[in-house]
Amino acid sequence: MRCPYCGCDDTKVIDTRDADDKQRRRRSCPECGKRFTTYEQVERPELLVNKKDNTYERFDRNKLIQGLSFAVKKRPVPGSIIIHIADDIENMCLAQNRDQISTAEISDIVLSRLRDIDEVAYVRFASVNKDFDNVERFLELISELKERG
Ligand SMILES: [Zn+2]
Repeated sequence: MRCPYCGCDDTKVIDTRDADDKQRRRRSCPECGKRFTTYEQVERPELLVNKKDNTYERFDRNKLIQGLSFAVKKRPVPGSIIIHIADDIENMCLAQNRDQISTAEISDIVLSRLRDIDEVAYVRFASVNKDFDNVERFLELISELKERG
């Protein structure tokens, strides 16, 4: 970051704070000794979703939240929980430095969470997002759920 006073290129960061989605950085210039503040946009790396038909689309948190909202509709599940699930998936990818995740993996993560939260929501989400070749496979999933008690 160039010093606005003398144009020196080599300024030092002396303090960093988060301000909304920006980082506020306090910098000092070793050349002229002046201090100044910058607000730098923190860019989230792009996360791509690998879909069943082998195409990619940008991870859309809102779309996932919509799908989850449908699953928990009229169920006693607080809205904050579905937002958490969506955030957790995105944060997990960021933490693992991944730039893509498959729809199958997303639905597996969601299902493992929903299973412990609400069985109706679990079955709804599974019926929309899992590929069941046949009715038997779907009934199997429901009996697995019953066995867990
Ligand atoms: Zn300077």
